[in-house]
Amino acid sequence: MTELGRAGPLGILGGTFDPIHHGHLRLAEEARERLALAAVCLIPAGTPPHRHPPQADGQHRLAMVRAAVAANPGLAVDASEIESQGPSYTVPTLERLRAQHGPGRPLVLLLGADAFLGLTTWHRWQDLFTLAHIAVATRPSHVLETTHKAPALAAEFSQRQTLSAAALAEAPAGCIIPFGITPLDISATAIRAALATGGSARYLLPDGVLDYISRNRLYQP
Ligand code: ATP
Repeated sequence: MTELGRAGPLGILGGTFDPIHHGHLRLAEEARERLALAAVCLIPAGTPPHRHPPQADGQHRLAMVRAAVAANPGLAVDASEIESQGPSYTVPTLERLRAQHGPGRPLVLLLGADAFLGLTTWHRWQDLFTLAHIAVATRPSHVLETTHKAPALAAEFSQRQTLSAAALAEAPAGCIIPFGITPLDISATAIRAALATGGSARYLLPDGVLDYISRNRLYQP
């Protein structure tokens, strides 16, 4: 990571980023602004344990994330999950970031509401709350309804929920904060599908990423 944010809450956005698109970038940018984060660190997953393997290999996905954030000093990229062998689990990644940034720095894991609602299936999910705050972005067609949550997650949510961004700066971990973002119903799946049939993905993701995709013939028919 660069100079970015040596103090103040640090946002963390993991994802397959296969490829990164404007939905991810607005999530990072709006979280940074609304939650008063010092910076947001994007962490492309190596081998995600929860889903089918990404289509583009790790080095390509990393290069696309780097291209996407290059002009924004508030966003950084962490390559450690791509560079490590084996599955990418969030808890060990947060343990590493906690060791790197010290016990007192607030870490804020950013999740889309769909990802949050599946949290109980994650490896050592309850340890997440001792390592970081969780900020849940509500995204199109994924409303954060209590009725959609597993009972164990609903219990954590009611105990830990805060609506105040200032609370994130007051403790290193442990809060859950929902926040609304501009709805952008963009998905990497739809982008890959468009590119695979020779269609246009323009304006769904940064031009620099699209250039990288076409230079490297990714997601082609
Ligand atoms: P795929 O279509 O391949 O499943 P994706 O576009 O959903 O991919 P991921 O890399 O799985 O992207 O997402 C990383 C994080 O970004 C997740 O927390 C997810 O909820 C969030 N996210 C993805 N797309 C959007 C979007 N359009 N708006 C807000 N958050 C998003």
